[in-house]
Amino acid sequence: MTEPVTTIAAEIARRRTFAIISHPDAGKTTLTERILRAGGAIQLAGNVRAKGERRRTRSDWMGIERDRGISVVTSVMTFEYGGCVFNLLDTPGHEDFSEDTYRTLTAVDSAVMVIDAAKGIEERTRKLFEICRLRDIPIVTFINKMDREAQDPFALLDEISSGLALDTSPATWPVGRAAQFAGTYDLRTKALHVPGDMAQSDPRMVALGEELELVEAALPPFDRESFDAGHLTPVFFGSAMKEIGVTDLLDAMVAFGPPPRAQQTETREVRADEDAVTALVFKIQANMDPNHRDRMAFARVCSGRLTRGMRLRHVRIGKHFALHTPQFFFARDRQLAEEAFGGDVVGIPNHGTLRIGDTLTENEDLRFTGVPHFAPEILRRVRLDDAMKAKKLRQALVELAEEGVVQLFRPQDGSAPIVGVVGTLQLDVLQARLQQEYGVGIGFESTPYSLARWVTGPQARLEAFAMSNRTAMADDIDGDPVFLASSAFMMRRTSEMQPELKFHDIKQIG
Ligand code: GDP
Repeated sequence: MTEPVTTIAAEIARRRTFAIISHPDAGKTTLTERILRAGGAIQLAGNVRAKGERRRTRSDWMGIERDRGISVVTSVMTFEYGGCVFNLLDTPGHEDFSEDTYRTLTAVDSAVMVIDAAKGIEERTRKLFEICRLRDIPIVTFINKMDREAQDPFALLDEISSGLALDTSPATWPVGRAAQFAGTYDLRTKALHVPGDMAQSDPRMVALGEELELVEAALPPFDRESFDAGHLTPVFFGSAMKEIGVTDLLDAMVAFGPPPRAQQTETREVRADEDAVTALVFKIQANMDPNHRDRMAFARVCSGRLTRGMRLRHVRIGKHFALHTPQFFFARDRQLAEEAFGGDVVGIPNHGTLRIGDTLTENEDLRFTGVPHFAPEILRRVRLDDAMKAKKLRQALVELAEEGVVQLFRPQDGSAPIVGVVGTLQLDVLQARLQQEYGVGIGFESTPYSLARWVTGPQARLEAFAMSNRTAMADDIDGDPVFLASSAFMMRRTSEMQPELKFHDIKQIG
């Protein structure tokens, strides 16, 4: 039997690639499970922060996850709903930050922001939102836990618009509150989503009628253009736990969730409906089997139709290689399991040839931009327990830095390597993995530095600056110069004294 042939344009039009951003405890896990359930059968890839049996079998590979009850790695969940193919990229659920979290957000086309209806906007939500804003990623808001004591919906909308400087447009309105929360009213379709029949005389319906007048008078209607530009968020009310409002959210993603966006390269923009395959590696994960040094590169397909066995060009090293065993994160449909389109994520097993930020193409010499390294906020010197293992440590640090576990800075004065992380949890991960996978025991020593900045500028100026600041200069893994400063004050002063040089807190990889 021949499979129906679909066009690339039709396939990408039905792709929805998104992440959920939230503060811990707001209900991300619960909502994820409800969404996946609504989407029917799913194949879970990588680690899901799931509880119980599934959690033990899937993520036992790293003690640190088990001990802390968290998932350190990102996973991809693909499901179909309403004729669309959804790719949900999971961001780690712990309170700490890692660069993986940031980078995952560079691989999505939209984000669902989950807010606890009682607590409103919390610190981590804000931080993640700011990352989305850097790329103007459209945000859909889900106000969760409406089945409990919650803030007034008007106050919540106000908090989002003033707190995040983001226009809000309610898409649904809650019917009943707290224990009486029964369902939602869809402001767009004017459909009432409540179980069974609710009498017009029900106090909740009476209250709804009054509130709707206010809503319609006071709040802006949905504006597609502002949403696409990341300036306006449609807001949904619900309860993940009670499965209220979840399909409102998914239906909206089908109706107006953004399909795969065009991706910027150094030379041109690549549209998702172009014929030739392009893909961008945004995450590397060590294989689940610690006895092998295999790695899985997660690549977002940016254009074309990617199939098994296809030959792709690894642009950075200028070689072609065959995609023999790509992992497609797909579910029921067999046809889907053999090909991927813009917005989809494939896993490519490799032995370290693929790095974060690498571009794959059919032949064109393109390099995607936009996968960032963030200047680490924590800098530590690595202290080796056993001096005989210095060489092994050096190699291990390079490998783990290539994987994005930490950033590695080699001081130009030849002193011991410094590792930089965005969140302290990354240090624990580094220590655990060096021990488990390389048999190298390490500790950390503090450094006088609290800031790292990539330095660019005219070559001669750069060299003179490096000469006179030798002890505070280091090379990153690509050999790019980094200035280490003891304080924000020092950093400011240094940059004022060096008007020809630029000090960057984000480095684009690629
Ligand atoms: P995460 O940390 O954001 O992934 O949050 P979880 O999904 O693990 O939820 C945190 C807690 O809130 C759990 O005890 C959930 O059962 C609970 N919870 C999640 N959603 C709801 C909801 O809609 N209503 C109520 N009452 N509790 C919820």
